[in-house]
Amino acid sequence: MLYNSTQNASEVVSSAQAIAQGISKDGGLFVPQQFPKYDRADFQSLLSLDYKGRAEKVFSDFLTDFSEEEIKDCVNKAYTAEKFGGNNPAPMAYTQLGGNLLNILELWHGPTCAFKDMALQILPHLLTKSLKKTYDGKDAVILVATSGDTGKAALEGFKDVEHTKIIVFYPVDGVSPMQKHQMNTQEGGNVTVCAIKGNFDDAQTGVKKIFTTPEISEKLGENNMLFSSANSINWGRLLPQIVYYISAYCDLVNDGKIALGDKINVVVPTGNFGNILASYYAGLMGLPVAKYICASNSNNVLTDFINTGVYDKNRDFYTTMSPSMDILVSSNLERLLYKFSGDSDAATKGWMDSLKATGKYEVSDEVKAVIAEKFFGGFCDEEQTQNTINRLFKQSGYLCDTHTAVAVNVYEQYVAETGDTTPSVIASTASPYKFSKAVLKAVSPECKLPETEFEMVDMLYEVSKMPVPAPLACLKDKKARFSDVTEVDKMPEYVLSALSIE
Ligand SMILES: *Cc1c(COP(=O)(O)O)cnc(C)c1O
Repeated sequence: MLYNSTQNASEVVSSAQAIAQGISKDGGLFVPQQFPKYDRADFQSLLSLDYKGRAEKVFSDFLTDFSEEEIKDCVNKAYTAEKFGGNNPAPMAYTQLGGNLLNILELWHGPTCAFKDMALQILPHLLTKSLKKTYDGKDAVILVATSGDTGKAALEGFKDVEHTKIIVFYPVDGVSPMQKHQMNTQEGGNVTVCAIKGNFDDAQTGVKKIFTTPEISEKLGENNMLFSSANSINWGRLLPQIVYYISAYCDLVNDGKIALGDKINVVVPTGNFGNILASYYAGLMGLPVAKYICASNSNNVLTDFINTGVYDKNRDFYTTMSPSMDILVSSNLERLLYKFSGDSDAATKGWMDSLKATGKYEVSDEVKAVIAEKFFGGFCDEEQTQNTINRLFKQSGYLCDTHTAVAVNVYEQYVAETGDTTPSVIASTASPYKFSKAVLKAVSPECKLPETEFEMVDMLYEVSKMPVPAPLACLKDKKARFSDVTEVDKMPEYVLSALSIE
């Protein structure tokens, strides 16, 4: 299977190259030239496999330049029962709200309690094998700018993976106390964590600048290292996300919730558009999905786009209680546009150029029509998010985090508007304990909030009796290893000194 750039179809690479490189030289994203197609018999045989078996099947159909052994090795190292608290890293939970059945796909049982573990536990293994095939003998240096979840998930994924080093920068006042503590206590011999005196954009710009400074790359080269990327536009992060939609469908069949061949909807709390795109890709492979329901918070640029065909990032930015969805430019949407324009690199490049120049673009009427047929876009505000957490907990005892609550609320809106009762899979993207303060306020509006993060965790446990995930509970008594804070313009020196390069 070969991959090409969304912005230049003549740029063609292998999957190893796509993963090692991360992004195409022309600025486009790598997409598979075609999608493997699964028929009824394929799904039938997937039913009897466990998550790892299903993952191996999907990976081997896309990563045709990897051997069976290589794929098995990656999958076995990533999705261990130890790391994901059981044999199914992405289990279903079934509950109800106001007469609607909720089939909740819990994607947060990994080491950092957010869905990004599903991809970031396997990416390091895919990446080291890809590097061996493309730039043999070099060590990869992963630079990450994070607003919270990605940084910790990447650190856990790359921790002590040979031939890799990872350096994470976060805005000193821009992450939650739990997120900061998760990162500063990170173990591993190849990890570095540093705060910067600036916001997330400053961190991101700083990292991009280091990537594109030739003198720094040369210095790395002299030391047998090269930069690589773990962010969500890397194909190696998208592919693992396709697996859990296919696996969820198999689980629904095995649990007697649907019959093989029945259609489902999917509902995804969306930020950078990676997770929902993966569900759409699963649909292209034959997963019977009727509607893709894209849920946003007050940063509802995607809702407007799905409803009007106009993408316009020139608008107010809101800081919400679902921070991982506080995004105005959803990078992975570019891949959907490429597909919807009939694999047109010229059309995709046109829209992306317009976005760069004016912050805005409008797709053609044909593309608008396909979007309207397949996608539903909705959003909810802060009050609705809290209210949804509260109702779901009061009515069915199910505790969900703020991001998942946005998805549940938009799903309710969808059913109310359309009357469509097709069984729907709702992606649950984080443990409620990662956002204890907001969740506690939602379920116990009358309680007096304690001071510290771990007191809030304890109180939320008292209220809900839902077990605190071990990876968060064990952080309580852990001492911070990292406390560095640097100026934004000192980031390049910081990186070189962390790598012990003169
Ligand atoms: C990253 C993240 C999202 C958004 O996912 P995208 O793939 O960027 O759309 C939603 N919820 C949580 C908890 C996340 O960490």
